[in-house]
Parts: sequence; structure tokens; C-alpha cells
Amino acid sequence: MVSYKELGLVNTREMFAKAIKGGYAIPAFNFNNMEQLQAIIKAAAETKSPVILQVSKGARNYANQTLLRYMAQGAVEYAKELGWEHPQIVLHLDHGDSFELCKSCVDFGFSSVMIDASSLPYEENIALTKKVVEYAHQFDVTVEAELGVLAGVEDEVSSAVSHYTKPEEVVDFATRSGCDSLAISIGTSHGAYKFTPEQCTRDPKTGKLVPPPLAFDVLDAVMEQLPGFPIVLHGSSSVPQEYVDMINSLGGKLPDAIGIPEEQLRKAAKSAVCKINIDSDSRLAFTAAVRKVLTEKPGEFDPRKYCGLARDFMEELYKHKIIDVLGSDGKA
Ligand SMILES: [Zn+2]
Repeated sequence: MVSYKELGLVNTREMFAKAIKGGYAIPAFNFNNMEQLQAIIKAAAETKSPVILQVSKGARNYANQTLLRYMAQGAVEYAKELGWEHPQIVLHLDHGDSFELCKSCVDFGFSSVMIDASSLPYEENIALTKKVVEYAHQFDVTVEAELGVLAGVEDEVSSAVSHYTKPEEVVDFATRSGCDSLAISIGTSHGAYKFTPEQCTRDPKTGKLVPPPLAFDVLDAVMEQLPGFPIVLHGSSSVPQEYVDMINSLGGKLPDAIGIPEEQLRKAAKSAVCKINIDSDSRLAFTAAVRKVLTEKPGEFDPRKYCGLARDFMEELYKHKIIDVLGSDGKA
């Protein structure tokens, strides 16, 4: 049993309370490798932004859970080396799907876990979430739950259709489960193909797809039911067109990839939405950089050259998200 506190990590409680009061949101960035983690920590340290490091099932399968946890521990020390005296870093389990998994993460030094039982019937979602909460809270680990279903594919989490969160259920759910924050479904979606062309309109000038707007009426109704309660948005990448275009112009094939417009996320960040998950955008930045180096210098065979540029691209992306979209700079 290792407490996250010994590792210099923090849970989300105080962080979220401040974010709601201050009208900004905390970035939750997934990480799978060293370059991504370096880029996240550099961006957070330089902008003095609190940050949530997320570990998904796909990341655990790819990189190994033990290694990822030691990397997060190392990230705290790295942040201090970069001059960030008191780093505000959360290590969070993304989409935990069982009590056993959540428990193992709590025991292993995670400061926050998500139990995603949103695909189960309502009462079973409450029961499983409550079980995780009762265990995690003994160790001051915070718990995120989910109500409603997001569409899209993210690692092993996928659903063909979304179901908006029902605002009339949130008080009962939050009270009985005891969760610390709630991921809701208001039209965000996992992956780089968040909407089919049929769900979108096309800008007559550029020919680009324009996605349907987020359901702010559902968010408003949830906030009215649960004033001041931390709300989380998953599937909130914006799929920056510059990266998609770069990838496509360098031999890639991502037709009609589409995300959530950043203005809408900015608007959400000013409300009780205090955690916004961003994963696909960094994948696009990474891929664009690798394609660029390998296309421009076909003789290059040093991974540090293309992974290095990928790291630069991701760092720039993370800073942009922190400063221009979430507004969390200067808050840690
Ligand atoms: Zn998610």
C-alpha cells in the first residue's frame, strides 16, 4: 500500500472547488509514453497550471501500469526541477471498469479514480460507484463517476450512440453514490471522429464539417440540480484542423475528422465543468510531427528526432489548451 501523498501527488477535491469558484477547468491529459508526459509537465510547469495525468486501460496495456505510476512519481520531481515549487499533479485512473481495478490503483498510489459504470443499469451504477467511493475515501482518494453515455471510441470504451445525462437523476445519483465529481453526457464524444458527416452541416466556404453544438441546456439543468458540484466532460478534443491537414498533406488519411469547437469548451470551463479530458488532440499533434520529420528527412532513423518534434508539438498544444481554452494558467 502506497499513499499518493508520499509521492507528492494531490487529489482533486480542493482543485475542483477552486476551479468552480474561479470559472476555469483543470486539464486532464492522457499519457502513454515519456515524451507525452514530458510535454504535459513542461506545459503545466511553465504555465503554473494544475494538471491531471490520466491512465486509461489502453495506456496500461501499452505501457504497463507499474511503469506508468513510477513515471508519474518521477513527473512530480521533474516538475520541481523545472522550478515548479509545489506541483499540483493528480494521478487519475481513466474509465476504471471494476472495483478491483479501482482498488488496485488506490493501493498503488493513484490520487483519483474513475469508476465508469455508466453502461450498467442505474441502480447497479450507484451500487458499484458507492463501493468504490467507500474504499477510496478511506485513503482520501477522490472518485469520478459517470451518468449518461458518450458516443465514440476511446481505447476500449466505445458506444455507437450517446444518451444525454438525465438532469432529474443527478441529485439522487450523487447523494447515494457519494462520488466527488460526475462525468455527464451533453454531446461530447470519444475519439477523432466525434460526429458522422450526417450529424454535421458543411461550411459552404471551406467545405469543412461543422459539428452540432453541445447541449448546454442539459448542463444548465444539471447545475441547477447540483449547485457547485464538480462536473466533468470526457471526449473533449477539438481535433485541430492544422494537424489534420498536415497529416493528410504528408500521406495520412483522416477524412472528415472532427471535434468539439474550442469556444464551446471555453464556455463550459467557465461553468461548474471543472475537468476537461483531452486525448485525441495530442495523438494528432504527435502523428503530424512524426510524419513531418520522416517525410522531410527520409534518411532520418533516430527516434529522438521525430519523437522530439512530437514532444514540442504536444507541449505547444497543451499550453494552448491551458491558456486559451481551460483558463487554468497561473492557478497552481
Ligand atoms: Zn472518457
